Amino acid sequence: MSNSEPSDNNHFKVIVMGSGPAGLTAALYAARANLQPLVLEGSQPGGQLTITTDVENFPGFPDGILGPELMDRMRSQAKRFGAEVNFEVVSAVDLSTRPFEIRTDADRYLADALIIATGASAKQIGLESEKELMGYGVSACATCDGFFFKDREIVVVGGGDSALEEAVFLTKFASKVTVIHRRDELRASPIMQDRARANDKIHWLWNKQVIEILGSRQDKVRGVRVKDTQSGEESDYPCEGVFIAIGHTPNTELFRGDLELNEVGYIEVQEPSTRTNFGGVFACGDATDPTYRQAISAAGSGCKAAIDAERWLETGSDGPAG
Ligand code: NAP
Repeated sequence: MSNSEPSDNNHFKVIVMGSGPAGLTAALYAARANLQPLVLEGSQPGGQLTITTDVENFPGFPDGILGPELMDRMRSQAKRFGAEVNFEVVSAVDLSTRPFEIRTDADRYLADALIIATGASAKQIGLESEKELMGYGVSACATCDGFFFKDREIVVVGGGDSALEEAVFLTKFASKVTVIHRRDELRASPIMQDRARANDKIHWLWNKQVIEILGSRQDKVRGVRVKDTQSGEESDYPCEGVFIAIGHTPNTELFRGDLELNEVGYIEVQEPSTRTNFGGVFACGDATDPTYRQAISAAGSGCKAAIDAERWLETGSDGPAG
């Protein structure tokens, strides 16, 4: 069916937007509650874990598991209990009608309850070499990948709290961590600055913009090319790993104006529940969470969202605040 009127076949009790750990866990729980949810996967099926390699901190996998494989397993598990999973990207959501109307690049759907698990995207510098070497020495997640850089010299790009938090964390593994910042003044909070500056393993490269990551998928990373933001001079800096920590952007633009977002765009939920300010709309995972951003915490909140949606559907509550 194209973008015409939705048929009964396109009317679901629960639609889950997003297919990372939050979305697929929500789908699993909703499916097991006999709600036959539809998952609209979005442009990156499986979410951010599909761009990491080994995942060693997801409980139940003592030998680790590849990120894409973990997500394949979650998808299979949700489907086994009746979730329908479509590789479609949502282009518009109309919350002013009941049921809600969701439009994708391929179709239109109706949902009695909506679970938003659209995640967040790590900001990237925007280099070809960064994209090519992501997972091969370039990472956007110290907690996920720090362990692989034991006794290595690495760099962290950024000057905010995320960058310094990652830098401090990475000193547990790396022999030397150099923070590369494009200015000579940090954006990070004073307490994080003090902590990082007091750490002997942390070195600093000021006024430098990374313009290329040197290496190949076979040989991994061997350095970065930087440009001095004052003099324009270019130079190479050796390292074996690059952590990009220049912030995350929650994927919540579709909901601006409808849902309460915080000042940096994360969906506000009525903790400890996953209710948004809109009855029947629940949010979970990284789209709501600037703090933890872990697969396991996202999965946990996906479970909560499905249970919240199930209860909401049972009581038929239609109030403005869930
Ligand atoms: P952020 O505060 O926006 O900082 C991003 C940093 O990356 C800035 O230093 C920025 O440089 C730099 N940057 C941005 N784009 C860049 C580019 N294209 N190339 C090179 N550098 C670039 O982001 P964040 O550090 O992720 O923090 C986000 C929010 O979460 C903040 O409110 C922060 O306080 C909070 N947070 C808190 C904690 C904590 O309390 N433990 C931990 C993490 C995050 P400029 O400074 O030049 O703009």
